[in-house]
Amino acid sequence: MRLSRLFRNKKQVLSFEIFPPKPEVPLENLFDSIPGFKALSPDYISVTYGAGGSSRGRTVEIASRLKNTYGIEAMAHLTCVGHSVEQIDQVLESLKQENIKNVLALRGDPPIDQPDFDFSKGAFRYANELIAHIRKAKEGDFCIAAAAYLEGHVDSKRLDEDRRRLKDKVDAGVDLLVTQLFFDNRLYFDFLDRAAQIGINCPIVPGVMPIFNARIKTMTARSGCSIPAKLVLMIDKYQDNPEDLRKAGIEYAGKQIRELLDGGAPGVHLYTMNRLKSTTEILEVAGLR
Ligand code: FAD
Repeated sequence: MRLSRLFRNKKQVLSFEIFPPKPEVPLENLFDSIPGFKALSPDYISVTYGAGGSSRGRTVEIASRLKNTYGIEAMAHLTCVGHSVEQIDQVLESLKQENIKNVLALRGDPPIDQPDFDFSKGAFRYANELIAHIRKAKEGDFCIAAAAYLEGHVDSKRLDEDRRRLKDKVDAGVDLLVTQLFFDNRLYFDFLDRAAQIGINCPIVPGVMPIFNARIKTMTARSGCSIPAKLVLMIDKYQDNPEDLRKAGIEYAGKQIRELLDGGAPGVHLYTMNRLKSTTEILEVAGLR
């Protein structure tokens, strides 16, 4: 099913994000946990695309098995960085063959070990170009999602310009937006108002990243997301006690989700980091179990 239809028909949509394991790790390790994720009744699961296309085959394979073996609606992420038109079309064709109707279209980041990566080598410079291409592609009539950044994308110089770029993406053919992680729900609700002011009317789904360990500081620093002072204190308080930090992170994420849903968000996209136990606990705190 196209997710655009799901969002039209359901008041609040629950989705999970998982990522393909490294090439040397068997996929079965991930698939062992899928029945457990399915038991949590997500409306769909999205599968990330490794930086620079490193997990290309695995993303399609995982999305296909979610949908065709486990009966879970799936969305495949697709990044265009460093890809030719032919490579993008091959992925779209594979998705079509596997009956995957939903794509999260992204520019992507270059591989982490290539800071001087030349973006001009790819056929598409920004996500809006990829979105326009998918919209008119002969490979299939996809539902297209894109990324939104509540605090602005880390590369952007001005917030208002970043929001205009977001509008370009939506105008290119986006059906829904999924946000980058954030920890202060006021950012999300404020962003909804600003997006509406510039004519962005599609569902904007908040992406929630639980704090599983102190590595969140590096992750947020890289992606330009702020951590509220009370969370910094929490991370510092439990820095020598990883299990207590994980539990506090679960409590925070569960409450954050509850507040987002109570505030009228069209759903929640939970970055599970492939962690079934923690995901289950978060949904319990959020009152979704
Ligand atoms: P864009 O929308 O193209 O924006 C990138 C930057 O360029 C922004 O600063 C924007 O303001 C600017 N810009 C856009 N258009 C123009 C223009 N015409 N002229 C000048 N500047 C412009 N990465 C992965 O590798 N794999 C994944 O699976 C993945 N999944 C993600 C899922 C979500 C929900 C999110 C929020 C991010 C995900 N990412 C993923 C990370 C993403 O690839 C990076 O944040 C990347 O740096 C930007 O991708 P984008 O599609 O948002 O880029």
